[in-house]
Amino acid sequence: MINFNTPPCIGNEIDYIEEAIKNNKICGDGIFTKKCSGWMEKRFKVPKVLLTTSCTHALEMSAILCDIGPGDEVIMSSFTFVSTANAFVMRGATVVFVDIRPDTMNIDETKIEGAITEKTKAIVVVHYAGVACEMNKIMEIAKRNNLFVVEDAAQGVMSTYNGIALGSIGDFGNFSFHETKNYSMGEGGAILINDSRHVELAEIIREKGTDRSKFFRGQVDKYTWVEYGSSYLPSEINAAYLWAQLEQANEINENRLRSWNYYHESLVDLEKNGYIQRPYIPEECTHNGHMYYIKVKDIEERSELIEYLKERDIMAVFHYIPLHLSRAGEKYGRFHGEDIYTSNESERLLRLPLYYNISEDNIRYITNCIKTFFKDKPKVDSKLSELAKG
Ligand SMILES: *Cc1c(COP(=O)(O)O)cnc(C)c1O
Repeated sequence: MINFNTPPCIGNEIDYIEEAIKNNKICGDGIFTKKCSGWMEKRFKVPKVLLTTSCTHALEMSAILCDIGPGDEVIMSSFTFVSTANAFVMRGATVVFVDIRPDTMNIDETKIEGAITEKTKAIVVVHYAGVACEMNKIMEIAKRNNLFVVEDAAQGVMSTYNGIALGSIGDFGNFSFHETKNYSMGEGGAILINDSRHVELAEIIREKGTDRSKFFRGQVDKYTWVEYGSSYLPSEINAAYLWAQLEQANEINENRLRSWNYYHESLVDLEKNGYIQRPYIPEECTHNGHMYYIKVKDIEERSELIEYLKERDIMAVFHYIPLHLSRAGEKYGRFHGEDIYTSNESERLLRLPLYYNISEDNIRYITNCIKTFFKDKPKVDSKLSELAKG
């Protein structure tokens, strides 16, 4: 059986967890938490990184830091995980969805400006599959309209845009260290604070609304309740697991990219012959091998292929059902403009198994099965694939 995902494990995780226990410190903000956030600050060149209990929670912190309240609007694409929208809806905002680009599945930057109203407060971008959105244009639109930019870089740890780390470009960046992501701590995440003016409030929100972080640095005598907040600190046990991974961040990244490239080369002929489409990486982006997906003709063909692969012990999956089609999406959001690509392209997308240390043999087996599946299939209408290439 080839699993869709296997959580990454480098080897030192157990030793570090044991060390955390021996340190007599298993709650948050101990040695391992500081190692992790310090490493990210240096590597991604950000003033402050705070480890959180999940990317969902990091996004919730971002929404609070943007001072989102009832009546505000935030713009995002509908092809994303629920947390991207949920964090803002929980603060009372209305989500305004705009269409995606078919080539990267990211928000179509040309559709953003038309969706801005006087209520708009933030643009939330999702770097799908660790491939950057068109950030130069998006930052320019935000600046011109005085809007926050929040990056959902859950999938984008170690990816860059014009050489700059994803998560470090907007006002706030958000990483996920869930077991399905490139680097893991079981459940966990981080918020990247790219403007130092927000650091103090961010620390307060993360520490139940108290100035406890200042207290620990000796900057105040006692800590008290100063704002509203929650408990967004992960345990040292989780941070210890993550530290083992971050220490080997390059190795994990290269390993995933090798697998990604192997898929990409193995499937080139199927694309040339018009059966499938492969992911597209814009020139200004380096990605992190987070995900390998293909697009097939339509939803029926996708279901057939999933079944075909399952019969051959291969777990391939799809996501996301566009948020604007969901019950909560209808209630809390609206789609601005026309849904030309979001629904159509999401129905064609299929994710193939990719995780740290997946073997080349497995990838060869998977791609051979896919080739056999398409042997007697009619080709995709070339016009359709041209259109989707943008
Ligand atoms: C995984 C993911 C999240 C949620 O991350 P958690 O750490 O599980 O909360 C949010 N957004 C995107 C785009 C994701 O892929």
